[in-house]
Amino acid sequence: AKAVGRNNLQFYTLGLEQALLERVQLVADLRHALVAEQFVLHYQPQFDAATGRLDAVEALLRWRHPAQGWVAPGRFIPVAEQSGLIGDIGAWVLGQACRQWRQWYEQTGRPDLRVAVNLSAAQLASDGFIEQVDHLLRWHGMPPECLELEITESMLMEDVEQNVERLGALRERGVKLAIDDFGTGYSSLSYLRVLPIDALKLDRSFVHGVETDAGNAAICKSIIALAHNLGLHVVAEGVETEAQRAFLLSQGCDRLQGYLLARPMPPAELRQHAAFP
Ligand code: C2E
Ligand code: CA
Ligand code: CA
Ligand code: CA
Repeated sequence: AKAVGRNNLQFYTLGLEQALLERVQLVADLRHALVAEQFVLHYQPQFDAATGRLDAVEALLRWRHPAQGWVAPGRFIPVAEQSGLIGDIGAWVLGQACRQWRQWYEQTGRPDLRVAVNLSAAQLASDGFIEQVDHLLRWHGMPPECLELEITESMLMEDVEQNVERLGALRERGVKLAIDDFGTGYSSLSYLRVLPIDALKLDRSFVHGVETDAGNAAICKSIIALAHNLGLHVVAEGVETEAQRAFLLSQGCDRLQGYLLARPMPPAELRQHAAFP
């Protein structure tokens, strides 16, 4: 038994070493990805639930790795966050999304399309973030209302005071703020009163369960009612079926996003979409 144990240990440490090497490589590749222009943004439409009108698009980061092909954000965003690279990558995303807005504006003449961008905690906390937003909006002639920043509950808990202050400064300018993955974090509901936000994004784990699970349906229903009572909009993410859409509509959910309506897509494809202005 002892020998087996030792072998297992050796196997285990080899496995760890391997994982560590892969990770070091991933960080090195990520560091290189920005200058090598391996990142692109795809955009997933969000529709007004009642009218079906295209309201906003969420920018979702895609990485085309030269050897591994497309790497999913779920794999590299956490690594970028832990290695400190998310600052530069996040700044690129924000700049690119604003630039894309400008291009759409020039193509359509319509200033009312909103672009939603995912923020990382380190980005919101970084020096000069507000100035960066100001600069981008001014540079691209983008109305602040056309930019929506998505933040998660957990990232707000890190330095509540500073975060609330920064979010307040952004909101004062007219930038829209949404809490992403709402309901999956640990934040207390009482924070909702003090956070200067405009919308909640109902996490897709709740949305998926509404057809089969009475508990999930009750949670969705309650979150929508709570949000509305607080004067917030509700965006449902991960809407995949007609039944989910019907339920969300019946509960007065404001915006819908999900594969049922549209997948994330490159800008060229989005322009061909029937709902695009
Ligand atoms: P998220 O912000 O919750 O984004 C929604 C994710 O759900 C996206 O995955 C989207 O492709 C996917 N999705 C959309 N509709 C459906 C649906 O109907 N069903 C299902 N099952 N999934 C759907 P994606 O693009 O892989 O992004 C994963 C996560 O990576 C995002 O989750 C976000 O947390 C993070 N992320 C993506 N881009 C960025 C970025 O630019 N900056 C930061 N900080 N995080 C990002
Ligand atoms: Ca998001
Ligand atoms: Ca989300
Ligand atoms: Ca998510």
